[in-house]
Amino acid sequence: MYQETFMRQAIALSAKALDTKGTEPFGAVVVQNGKIVGEGINRSLATFDPTSHGETEAIRDACKTLQTVDLRGCEIYTSCEPCALCVAAMAIAGITKMYYAANLSQSDAALQNLPETNRFPIDVDHLRHECGRPLSARKMPAQQALSAEAVEVLRAWAAQQQNG
Ligand SMILES: [Zn+2]
Repeated sequence: MYQETFMRQAIALSAKALDTKGTEPFGAVVVQNGKIVGEGINRSLATFDPTSHGETEAIRDACKTLQTVDLRGCEIYTSCEPCALCVAAMAIAGITKMYYAANLSQSDAALQNLPETNRFPIDVDHLRHECGRPLSARKMPAQQALSAEAVEVLRAWAAQQQNG
C-alpha cells in the first residue's frame, strides 16, 4: 500500500546527487512489511558501473540486508519511472509493486539540455525495444560459439547440485 513517506525518502536520496560527486539524481527504496529494507542512488559515474541505477542499487541493498535474491512481497519506490534495465531487475527479484514520482517525459524534459560529459545518457526507448526483441531482431550483433563446451559446464553443475 502506497505510503508517502517512502516516496519522500526515494526523492531525498535522489537529491543527494546535488552534493555527491559521481551520482545522478535517481533514488529508490525497497519496502517490505512497511519498512525500508534497501536504498539506492545512481552511482554509475562514481563506481564505473553502467548498471548502477537508483533501482538496481536499492535492490542490491535490500537483497544484501535480507540475505536473499527473492524480493517477492516487496515494493519499490523510485524518484523516476525506471528504464528497462531496472524493470528487468525488479522482475528478476520478484518485486510486487512499483511506485514512481517523475515519469519518463518529465525526467527527459528536465535533463534534456545537459551535455553528455555531465551524465551517462540512456536511450530509454532504444533500451526497451532492444531488450524486448528476440536475439535475431536486435540491433546489437550477436554470434553463437562453443555452445557444446558451455552446455557441458551447465550439465556438470546441474549434476553436482543434484548429488550434493
Ligand atoms: Zn534504470
